[in-house]
Amino acid sequence: QIPVITIDGPSASGKGTLASALATRLGYQFLDSGALYRVTALLALRRGVPADHEPALVGLARQLGEEIPLRFEGHQVWLDGQEVSEDLRQEEVGQNSSKISALPGVRQALVRQQLAFRKLPGLVADGRDMGTVIFPDAGLKVFLTASVAQRAERRYNQLISKGISVTLDEICADLEARDLRDKSRAVAPMVPAADARLLDNSALSIDQSVDTVLGWWTD
Ligand code: C5P
Repeated sequence: QIPVITIDGPSASGKGTLASALATRLGYQFLDSGALYRVTALLALRRGVPADHEPALVGLARQLGEEIPLRFEGHQVWLDGQEVSEDLRQEEVGQNSSKISALPGVRQALVRQQLAFRKLPGLVADGRDMGTVIFPDAGLKVFLTASVAQRAERRYNQLISKGISVTLDEICADLEARDLRDKSRAVAPMVPAADARLLDNSALSIDQSVDTVLGWWTD
């Protein structure tokens, strides 16, 4: 059985940073499952498919990695021959990915692509439902938490460094709206798996979080 570590948690909790650092340390594959929802949202925007048109969105999601080429290379994402990593981070794409991820058909259509990341020597997968739905037999499940204030501050610093002007209040409101949507959707709501270990990284550095999880993994 190929080993899997899952890292689930809310937006801006630092899952991506933690999961990718763990993957590097262990020499494992890395799955950023949010990127698959973002790719679907980007395709939909480009093709004029509304974010509530489930059948058309399911059609797009099913074609990803088949009729529509999709490739992940480290932190770069190639969609239909084009590098789209920057486009995936756009605000509009983030908003739309949050909406379409509430549609059960879209979630189902993206399962195949996520399972395909489980390759030797192992996988670190980050998202909202990695431990509950996609890899329920993972050897270690982590649910990351951090206070809204802490997450907002991190997101604020990221955006300001990119020259995007926002206020902390706007970011807090956006994070709270996203959390609510992630937690309250009918399918695959964001909840810790029953056997997940909780990690609050509000007061931890990235290295401290990585070392904590590596300690659990080698236990
Ligand atoms: O993590 P990220 O912000 O890139 O995820 C984009 C959107 O996809 C989020 O708003 C979240 O609602 C959704 N998502 C999800 N399930 C996952 C990963 C992300 O519903 N496993």
